[in-house]
Amino acid sequence: MSPIVARRANGTARIMSATVRCNGGRWHVSFTVEVERAERTPDRPQSVVGVDVGIKYLAMLSTGELVPNPRHLVAAQQRMRALGRTLSRKTGPDRRTGLRPSKRWERAAARLGRAHARVAHLRRDGLHKLTTRLARKHGTVVVEDLNVTGMLRNRRLARHIADAGFSEIRRQLAYKTSWNGGRLLVADRWYPSSKTCSGCGAVKAKLALHEREFTCEVCGLVIDRDRNASLNLAALAAEFDTAGSGPVAARGADRKTRVRGQVAVKREPGTATAGQTGTVLPQGRTIDRVLTKAH
Ligand SMILES: [Zn+2]
Repeated sequence: MSPIVARRANGTARIMSATVRCNGGRWHVSFTVEVERAERTPDRPQSVVGVDVGIKYLAMLSTGELVPNPRHLVAAQQRMRALGRTLSRKTGPDRRTGLRPSKRWERAAARLGRAHARVAHLRRDGLHKLTTRLARKHGTVVVEDLNVTGMLRNRRLARHIADAGFSEIRRQLAYKTSWNGGRLLVADRWYPSSKTCSGCGAVKAKLALHEREFTCEVCGLVIDRDRNASLNLAALAAEFDTAGSGPVAARGADRKTRVRGQVAVKREPGTATAGQTGTVLPQGRTIDRVLTKAH
């Protein structure tokens, strides 16, 4: 029986349907369950946490906590890479010549598929534990839309895993914050979270990708790069709340606002209450300017 239904043996959950599928050599059963959820509030409703998703670790929080990657993830990734190399040495299918793959290729491909699935599961599991904890504790969670610098910094594999992490962490946080009576804010993808000083707000023109430390020429702050980014994300929450109260902001209600060719969905700012997801605009860019660009 589904664990969620087993936990709710008092009749507050009902299975609507079940789907069975096979993925990466493992069988999965997913249940659609109707659940009665109690109204919840986060442990600290006023608390704001910024989350910078990483690759060498799962996330850096604005609280200063570094959330490590799940155990065995590195070993699983190494195995995945090794299996990929093994596969490339075998005779695979060729669409142009109609060549059929060898049995060895098929076996190696299946092993690689299972290794891929294991890496994805490990990371997803780690993200679930993190997002549950964040949503239960903090009233507001702020994440980035996409880690553009991270994408440039990394080779293909790391990037692929990180990309999956960004969308997954957002997806999980969106429903978990709503279940827990909190809210999720997503920073505009052009917001320079890494280049902005979390101390004085000065924005650097350039921050080389290998620079792990942020040094501010204006106020002299020296801080870990990712910690700085997470603090900037957390600071966006205050800006979002201020912007939401103005009459200018209200004009952008429920309209797709284009910022430099990218679509950013701006929710009704005046009703940025518990359970909502919104897009936070970058520091220094007023709502007014963004709206001007939109027309
Ligand atoms: Zn500074």
